[in-house]
Amino acid sequence: MASKTPITVAYGDGIGPEIMNATLRILEAAGAALEIETIEIGEKVYLRGNTAGIDPGSWESLLRTRVFLKAPITTPQGGGFKSLNVTTRKTLGQYANVRPCVSYHPFIETKHPVMDVVIVRENEEDLYAGIEYQLSPDVTSCIKLITRPGSERIVRYAFEYARRHNRKKVTCFMKDNIMKMTDGLFHKVFDEIAVEYPDIQKEAWIVDIGAAKLADTPEAFDVLVMPNLYGDILSDVAAQIAGSVGLAGSANIGDKCAMFEAIHGSAPRRAGQNLANPSGLLLGAVLMLVHIDMPETAALVHNAWLRTIEDGIHTYDIFTEGISTAKVGTKEFAAAVVARIGQRPNRLKPVAYVHRTGVAPAARPASAGVRAVSSEIRGVDLFVTWPSRNPEALAAAMRPLAADGLSLEMIDNRGVKVWPAGSAETFCTESFRCRFLAQDATGMKPILGLCGRVAEAGIDIASTQTLRTFDGQAGYSLAQGQ
Ligand code: NAD
Repeated sequence: MASKTPITVAYGDGIGPEIMNATLRILEAAGAALEIETIEIGEKVYLRGNTAGIDPGSWESLLRTRVFLKAPITTPQGGGFKSLNVTTRKTLGQYANVRPCVSYHPFIETKHPVMDVVIVRENEEDLYAGIEYQLSPDVTSCIKLITRPGSERIVRYAFEYARRHNRKKVTCFMKDNIMKMTDGLFHKVFDEIAVEYPDIQKEAWIVDIGAAKLADTPEAFDVLVMPNLYGDILSDVAAQIAGSVGLAGSANIGDKCAMFEAIHGSAPRRAGQNLANPSGLLLGAVLMLVHIDMPETAALVHNAWLRTIEDGIHTYDIFTEGISTAKVGTKEFAAAVVARIGQRPNRLKPVAYVHRTGVAPAARPASAGVRAVSSEIRGVDLFVTWPSRNPEALAAAMRPLAADGLSLEMIDNRGVKVWPAGSAETFCTESFRCRFLAQDATGMKPILGLCGRVAEAGIDIASTQTLRTFDGQAGYSLAQGQ
């Protein structure tokens, strides 16, 4: 007999244990060769005083099995408790979140009878890097971090996913008409990598109109890839419009460990009543079976589940009079799926999965190392706090402090130029950005000298940003009106 694949399982809180039992029962009946290690996470661990919600010893299991099937957990209310999902994602470098959103018309009510999209969301970067600052009493900022290796990894993952699952098109959502550098880099990387996949169509949409189109006409899309924030929002929208957030599973993919789960929470009010729908976790487990290269078992489970849905055997949350044939509990639903193992749906499209071939999607991109790029320092942006909010007075105070070839180029407030020749209409906060530029390349010494003189003049510097060129191109954006 083939050896079993070890996986780590957490039963979670609320409805977690019931839906995990149902899921594991179905996997076992389908003959999934799994060796299950159980760890405890969630409420009990939090309430023992562990703010991470996971015991240090549990990481050992996760790093060894590298596969985590996780039921939802309850995060206790109140301060101090950290999101276990964010901790797991960051600790294990899970850079891709994959969420298939499918409608099951006419068996589950939906406004979108033809919908079968997969959202591939970048999981580590963007505004979710968690780099935030308070610059002054009234002004805060959050850094949007988009990197070439991070973008290459997620875009390549999306194309590899499309190829492996016989998908026809990959669409990129971003907003590079506004964020020309960050989303511009994501878009550029998308275009570069798309060339390597001539068998797959590619298209790029600005996220606002793309989101509207997705909500209105999801059948226009296939695989979607996008930075973290857009992906977080749109994957929930897509799951909801497909019919129910209760049906979608999700995968968090990393090199060290991949995590599979339902997208819903622990639904504490439904716990212990044999009511919960185990479908989201079961479809998460199907993603896991594909990931650990058990495509035949994945298809057995998925097709049996589709047949159960098609036969109208529904839990309370998807039960509709006239469509459903039986309202069942969690255990009975699992039994119905088990009874259909080996069967395929008649009207819904059956699934087929294939063994892993070609480049492992998780492979690190070639450019993860340092690239040879020529770079010059051209100046500095000083973010200063100027309580009088008068840009002319700030310019008068700043200009005499410039030396060593640097001169004050402009001052802006919230990205809008207010000096020279600002508009009296522009609302100013107390946080201004003063841009000093040199005609030619300069260095850190003149910049540090400038900072020293500004500080001696009693002007509060909240932060500084060196301005550089990379291969002759400015590595900084212009202010509005500059
Ligand atoms: P929820 O997803 O638990 O519940 C939202 C609604 O959907 C409720 O009405 C619930 O009864 C219903 N529902 C959810 N899953 C269902 C299922 N499988 N079958 C039938 N009905 C289902 O969201 P919530 O109420 O906002 O959160 C409850 C708890 O879950 C919170 O502590 C939250 O922090 C946690 N949570 C955990 C995760 C996770 O572990 N990944 C995700 C989201 C929320």
